[in-house]
Amino acid sequence: MGEEGQRKLQGASAAIVGCGAIGASTAQLLARAGVGRLRVIDRDFVEPSNLQRQALFDEEDARSALPKAIAAERKLRQLNSEIQIEGVVGDVGAGNALELLAGFALILDGTDNFETRLLLNDYAVQAGVPWIYAAAVGSYGITYVIRPGETACLACLLETPDAGPMMEETCDTVGVLGPVIGLVSSLQAAEALKLLSGNAQALHGRLMACDVWSGRMQSLAATRNAQCRACVRHEYSYLEGEAQPHITMCGRDSVQIHERRRALDLAALRDRLTAAGLTVKQNDFLLRFSTPPYEMTVFGDGRAILKGSTDPAVARSLYARYLGA
Ligand SMILES: [Zn+2]
Repeated sequence: MGEEGQRKLQGASAAIVGCGAIGASTAQLLARAGVGRLRVIDRDFVEPSNLQRQALFDEEDARSALPKAIAAERKLRQLNSEIQIEGVVGDVGAGNALELLAGFALILDGTDNFETRLLLNDYAVQAGVPWIYAAAVGSYGITYVIRPGETACLACLLETPDAGPMMEETCDTVGVLGPVIGLVSSLQAAEALKLLSGNAQALHGRLMACDVWSGRMQSLAATRNAQCRACVRHEYSYLEGEAQPHITMCGRDSVQIHERRRALDLAALRDRLTAAGLTVKQNDFLLRFSTPPYEMTVFGDGRAILKGSTDPAVARSLYARYLGA
């Protein structure tokens, strides 16, 4: 990379969308490498079950239920105080993708679902910005650099009849073996450093797939789909919000309730819920209460994650009962 490459890294920027396992490991590698400006966006908070694979977080973060974006920002600052690091607690969706991602030279996939990935793909193709897909399930991981107009995009790869099963397994239904995360995020971060240091000619251009259990490593050619919805027909259905539901699955036994932009006064809500006899835990970023068998976590932007049910009707009814319509 040389001195010239190092200098370019200092002036470079990347947005990391999702800071769970892969996002945290990649963010750490880029912060240590000296990428000048990093934005880490995550919608969730740290839980004990994350610690087996999510390298930036510790038991104290889980005890205080810190949002991952905040915990990540704090840890990354300790690793490198000379770069700009910003944690954003939020959920990247059709309504805010432009606002959260505009101006970044590269987008890194740290998400856990294909809906958000296809949204990132729409954004990146439309904006002409590269992004790096990465995913891990079980002991298997995969990563691929998407450069709009030059390589296949994620819609080229996924929106084909034979891509079905890949869309259904998620890390919450089968779990993730910790070591595969380091491997996938290293492959992702290496390509990011090539792009951000002005060494695009060094990109290998292959779809890399690996399984740390079987030891099988594959490097595959990916070809563009001549009829691709996103990079050929320029139909950005995810970015235009057509595919964005109001309530989405979010983990093994949880759903997320997306509210249209709604600034909640968490302190007032805590007082109200406490007066109603509920036990409420709160920090600066979120509030949590349980009403067995459910537990609800509410964020300042009006989003809530309901644990204990995947039934949208239950989620809507509890949200309306405790937070108002
Ligand atoms: Zn495409």
